[in-house]
Amino acid sequence: MGLTAAGVLARPLYALAAIDPDLVVYNAKVYTIDSGQPRAEAFAIANSRFVAIGTSADMRALIGKRTRTFDARGMTIVPGFTDTHNHAGGTTLLYEVLVGNPFEVEFVTIQSIIDKLKNKARGLPLGTWVEGYFHDDTKLKDQRPLNVRDLDQVSTEHPVVVQHRGGHTSFYNSRAFALANVTRATPNPPGGTFDKDANGELNGRVTDLARGAFSRVGTRPSFSPDQQARRERDGIAHISKQFVRYGLTSVHHEGGDLAAIQDVRARGELLHRVSYEASGPMLEHMIASGIETGFGDEWIKFGATSEHTLDGSFSERTMALSFAYPGRNGYKGNVTEAQEACNAWVERVHRAGIQVNCHANGDVAIDEYLTAFERAQKLFPRADARPKITHCTLINDDLVRRIKAAGAVPALFSTYAYYNTDKFPFYGEEFMKHAMAYRTLLDAGVPCTAGSDFSPGPFAPLMGIQGMVTRTGWDNTTWGANQRITVDEALKVNTLNGAYASHEESSKGSISVGKLADFVVLADDPHTVDASKIKDIQVVQTVVGGATAYQA
Ligand SMILES: [Zn+2]
Repeated sequence: MGLTAAGVLARPLYALAAIDPDLVVYNAKVYTIDSGQPRAEAFAIANSRFVAIGTSADMRALIGKRTRTFDARGMTIVPGFTDTHNHAGGTTLLYEVLVGNPFEVEFVTIQSIIDKLKNKARGLPLGTWVEGYFHDDTKLKDQRPLNVRDLDQVSTEHPVVVQHRGGHTSFYNSRAFALANVTRATPNPPGGTFDKDANGELNGRVTDLARGAFSRVGTRPSFSPDQQARRERDGIAHISKQFVRYGLTSVHHEGGDLAAIQDVRARGELLHRVSYEASGPMLEHMIASGIETGFGDEWIKFGATSEHTLDGSFSERTMALSFAYPGRNGYKGNVTEAQEACNAWVERVHRAGIQVNCHANGDVAIDEYLTAFERAQKLFPRADARPKITHCTLINDDLVRRIKAAGAVPALFSTYAYYNTDKFPFYGEEFMKHAMAYRTLLDAGVPCTAGSDFSPGPFAPLMGIQGMVTRTGWDNTTWGANQRITVDEALKVNTLNGAYASHEESSKGSISVGKLADFVVLADDPHTVDASKIKDIQVVQTVVGGATAYQA
């Protein structure tokens, strides 16, 4: 940082006076997401960080003997993308039966689901669970829901379950119901349902907490500790490759095997940065040991907690609403934790110096969370706590005011506006005007972020950006167009705001001198392509800390 001839402090364009950069990138259309210098043509990287940003001529002048160079030939470069809510289930992708497409919109037949599971059942001893993953009830060519009779065709000797990719509903066969002792007469437990057909018979669909009835019955595959460790490592390495393929350089992981993540890193196979969100015993250990949010380094760091679930799901229509779902006999969704329990959890975690994070979709659940946080903050004030609201789907004016006052950071669904438009008719346009409310929240000064919730949503950031900009889905329907944001805003939501959500905005999230050199090279500019083609822009290269993590 130096003084100009006039004695005015110049922009800190160069971090070091006499650098011999590791890499100089030039001839690019750089969108920095740094308000101090939004556009550039080139930058230089040393020791994993951006050290200079400017014109191609200025940056080329820095090239030294050992400097690698990259001529971007006019391509677009943006900061690496951040996904602030991801279940990162690599082992599922690698080892399980996938009955739907994890990454893209694809319609399948019920017969294909039956065939895949039948095939799986053939290799399993009787009584062992046959499981299918990534089911999406509105991506069926059959135009009717999967039911218990379909799954009875898979096997009558094995319990069979098909997990909805949304994670809040499952579909079982008759054998599974028999093992769990669930009949048409079994009452719904609090926070869940055993769904029935028109004749009052179990139809196979079971929602939220009612699925607990199946957790202790049947046999599940078991693995030795060594096998399990290998599966977890393979899973992390696999999903890391998928993340960088789509331009993600930072991902907030909902739990997962922390040892495996560290092992994969030690082998040099961790390609993206992890904000690790703990739950259960690990969160208890953090509290007991005094490990706070921010502990770790720039590759693996403890972030907020894992989502602490307060209500049901958006995609599966079980979120807790202050009004009845259309055509559902007064059903208002599932509240999965009462206010008092939520108060106690938030208070304990907040006191321990750990960033709280609750899953709250419906307005009722968001209100419950804010009530708990406001209470905890009054009892134990902590500056800049940034309570994270995972999903924060349905808002109203009062909630927005309280979100802003709490300094909360919402992780809104990112890819749903494109991927899940087939679910929006269940809610209707009036609802969608107030759902995934990027426009309203940004206008209120709330730094909302993009949380794919993978597996429920695909994690492709460009699919997310297209949906934020257009609010138009794969089926060409548009919902809540009042919530559209600009390409620049969507880029910021997917980069700098994501870094802010984990208190890392000073070290990443924009192409700024001193920050980690995480960026993505795009074949086209999302500002100039047809907005309905943003998701199709090719990710040419993903660079993390100055090193190429993905090359098309
Ligand atoms: Zn989630």
